[in-house]
Amino acid sequence: MDFDVHAENIYDDPKWPKEPIFYANFPSKSDASMAPKGKEGCFLLVPIAPGLEDTESLREKYFEIVFQRLEELTGQSLRNDILFRKSFCVNDFKSEYNSYKGNAYGMANTLLQTAFLRPKLKSKKVENLFFSGQLTVPGPGVPPALMSGKLVAGLIEKATTTNR
Ligand SMILES: Cc1cc2nc3c(=O)[nH]c(=O)nc-3n(C[C@H](O)[C@H](O)[C@H](O)COP(=O)(O)OP(=O)(O)OC[C@H]3O[C@@H](n4cnc5c(N)ncnc54)[C@H](O)[C@@H]3O)c2cc1C
Repeated sequence: MDFDVHAENIYDDPKWPKEPIFYANFPSKSDASMAPKGKEGCFLLVPIAPGLEDTESLREKYFEIVFQRLEELTGQSLRNDILFRKSFCVNDFKSEYNSYKGNAYGMANTLLQTAFLRPKLKSKKVENLFFSGQLTVPGPGVPPALMSGKLVAGLIEKATTTNR
């Protein structure tokens, strides 16, 4: 698995990667409520370019590739013990969140969408309307999204004290 080749299929030549890298998270390791007793909750993520074709057969194909690798890496057979499985891909991001090209991460971190060039915390059109979260300032990721809420709380506090 070559990270550079996979990254090329995301940024330079968007297509489903032949040999996908993937991210595996087992939230039940730290939160028992994430799976029935004695089982694991497993979350597998294959990063792909936005706007790619998304069909049931592609999802199935990539589940097979990734799961086989997970079994090889862990040296155990897991397939027959799956109790529940759900996939979420481009079409779901479009239908559930109306997200641009079905992307999962919001705006790309390009220069023209960075820092003060990002959408503002304060609405330009509606007085006393504020926005927070990854799509505004400072940007994507859980820590910046929390920071965004903190910044907006400060702005609201300031607006209410000056309006008094
Ligand atoms: C697969 C994946 C892996 C990630 N991994 C990491 C990581 O390892 N570390 C990290 O820091 N960040 C990670 N991120 C990014 C991080 O999750 C986000 O940046 C962060 O959650 C954004 O927080 P938010 O509050 O802005 O938005 P969200 O967490 O997306 O919250 C928005 C909420 O608004 C709700 N909503 C949407 N539309 C409406 C509506 N019309 N009415 C009412 N409610 C609505 C949604 O259902 C959702 O609950 C990851 C993101 C993804 C998708």
